[in-house]
Amino acid sequence: MADYLYIHVPFCARKCFYCDFASFPFEEQEARSYTDALCRELAIKKNQAGELKTVYIGGGTPSLMPDRFFRDLFSCLRDNFSLSAAPEITVEANPGTLTEAKLGLLLRGGVNRLSIGIQSFQDTELKALGRIHNAKEAAAAVEAAQKTGFTNISLDLMYGIPGQTIASWQETLKRAENLRPAHISAYELTPEKGTPLFGLLEEEKIRLPEEGVVLGMYDCVIDYLSAHGYAQYEISNFSQPGYGCRHNINYWDRGEYLAAGAAAHSFVAGRRSRNTASIPAYIEKLLTGILPEEESTEVPEAEAKRERLFLGLRKTEGISVVNSHDEPDLVRAAAGLIKEGYLELSGDRLRLTRKGTVLSNTVIVSLFENLGL
Ligand code: SF4
Repeated sequence: MADYLYIHVPFCARKCFYCDFASFPFEEQEARSYTDALCRELAIKKNQAGELKTVYIGGGTPSLMPDRFFRDLFSCLRDNFSLSAAPEITVEANPGTLTEAKLGLLLRGGVNRLSIGIQSFQDTELKALGRIHNAKEAAAAVEAAQKTGFTNISLDLMYGIPGQTIASWQETLKRAENLRPAHISAYELTPEKGTPLFGLLEEEKIRLPEEGVVLGMYDCVIDYLSAHGYAQYEISNFSQPGYGCRHNINYWDRGEYLAAGAAAHSFVAGRRSRNTASIPAYIEKLLTGILPEEESTEVPEAEAKRERLFLGLRKTEGISVVNSHDEPDLVRAAAGLIKEGYLELSGDRLRLTRKGTVLSNTVIVSLFENLGL
């Protein structure tokens, strides 16, 4: 039984240059059929859910969806699931798609957390990313959400953008912090193969900032946000006290979650399952009452161990080494990395140091090697 539910909405107004997520241009008729298929999938899967602690409606751009989508989805959730007391219900939103009416509809429907994809407060950087909004619209979206009554708002920011400098990143951080959101996520831009951004970099038409500058940007975000009341609780996530994203914390705790929608991944009873990413195939399967799963595998123990370490060490609180059957091996395997200052053992918690956080992937891979994983 999973107490966490993810719902994927695979539509966007336009594809951003760096995007390799499952998202496709919005088409009204397809979106209508998708809504029906999604509600069918949720009804089939309801028996795998306990009392939901969180519901996360992500994408794509869920805020692009018409009112009918949210009305149908909320009524489908009410009919098929029970919610725990004070659930966290998040909708991902992008500036340029949030009207006052839509914000009101979301709030009345029980949504109590908005995650807004701002990325930057610099118009040239937003253009370089192929975003549909500008900096003014980004700030207006946050202010409109606050005015509607949303108090738990998260802003997504991005560093390492072509043309970005330490100074322009500091300006973005300052403008984000001035809006006093409850939560800020800051991700490094990663050029993924097959995206237009990757092509432009290969053709040397644009350049990413130097590696040292990008590391400096990461240092900046940690220092700036901690000086302004935001605690870092995960490699890329910062919040005011009590506003860590409960849905994502469950991922890093390697907890179970149920998921619905094209390309959605579930993790229930030790099995990871993945739905087809093709919207037409997704709709067609569900119209005939078949779950659109493309893959469903039990996670082997070695993989489970790797996941526990990789996900757990992303959190600043790290992982407990007490009561872990891996404990003797784990402490031994971590000894060298502790000595070099990349990891620390504090009480029963093994965690990345600040130096280790900057190089987290390399440190965690070294730990896997030392453990023979
Ligand atoms: S808004 Fe997000 S999901 Fe949509 S295209 Fe841009 S990066 Fe991809």
